[in-house]
Amino acid sequence: MQASIAHRDLLEPRSLGDALKMLRDEGPLTPLAGCTDLYVSLNFGTLKDTRFLNLWRLNTMRAIEVRKNMLSIGALATFTDIVRSPLVRKRLPMLVAAAREVGGVQIQNRGTIGGNVANASPAGDSLPVLAAAEASVVLKSAAGRRRIPFDAFYTGYRATVRRPDELIVAFEIPAIRGRQWFQKVGTRAAQAISKVVVAGVVQPGATRIALGSVAPTVVRARRTEAALDEGATVDAAQRVLMDEIAPIDDIRSSADYRRRVAANLLGKMLRQSR
Ligand SMILES: Cc1cc2nc3c(=O)[nH]c(=O)nc-3n(C[C@H](O)[C@H](O)[C@H](O)COP(=O)(O)OP(=O)(O)OC[C@H]3O[C@@H](n4cnc5c(N)ncnc54)[C@H](O)[C@@H]3O)c2cc1C
Repeated sequence: MQASIAHRDLLEPRSLGDALKMLRDEGPLTPLAGCTDLYVSLNFGTLKDTRFLNLWRLNTMRAIEVRKNMLSIGALATFTDIVRSPLVRKRLPMLVAAAREVGGVQIQNRGTIGGNVANASPAGDSLPVLAAAEASVVLKSAAGRRRIPFDAFYTGYRATVRRPDELIVAFEIPAIRGRQWFQKVGTRAAQAISKVVVAGVVQPGATRIALGSVAPTVVRARRTEAALDEGATVDAAQRVLMDEIAPIDDIRSSADYRRRVAANLLGKMLRQSR
């Protein structure tokens, strides 16, 4: 049942500094970016939070730039911003491929990469890209700033190391050599949540493979990566991957289907990238 928006407060900071002070002094507050995930919960009547912090106008959190050979993507960058960014197209084409597949155009115009990561769904399309890119999550609070390696950001199903007084402000991505690859498999081409999503970097001796929707959090397939780096054939690597991942049966798909699709995507990635 749709929940009422009465009895909910919205704080409107004018700067990132204001926002961080509000989180410290007036919390607990739920950050609100493009609202595409939050609005779904509101509509279903499952959104329990009552006090919100509107980040949407904090334009400094939208910047996409390269500093010291590190690509920095502001947490408020929308998927449309990412698709249009020459820097992301050049340095992180697998993120552009992922952004093009998020929802439809309206969702891409509002949905932010920070919201996708903070929402912590194992099916989030940008998550395997950030995992394969070995990104860092930049968190800020009124007390300071910290950088968390992406593979240490999630602690379990929909759980992260972010403290309530912190915001995700950006993602930092080192330069990547090797060929980047992304593919999502859903019920249909658009407006579908992933059944399996794979992002990878194919580079001799330094293969990286990350998968979404096959575990409670996004995962790196470290055993499969090691097998490939030691010279495994495509068939052998597919067997290692099927053994390595432990997907679940749920409303969207069966574990067996997910395992087979993941292996097929790995085969496709290796054949297309070598
Ligand atoms: C019709 C539809 C289709 C969709 N299709 C896809 C899809 O194909 N692939 C996909 O991955 N997702 C999809 N989504 C989910 C959603 O659009 C994405 O997860 C989007 O990136 C969320 O971003 P947002 O800015 O709208 O987040 P919001 O809804 O504003 O926030 C989501 C969560 O993140 C927190 N948050 C937001 N920004 C920050 C921040 N900077 N710091 C800390 N916490 C923060 C919020 O408190 C909230 O808990 C879809 C949603 C809809 C409604």
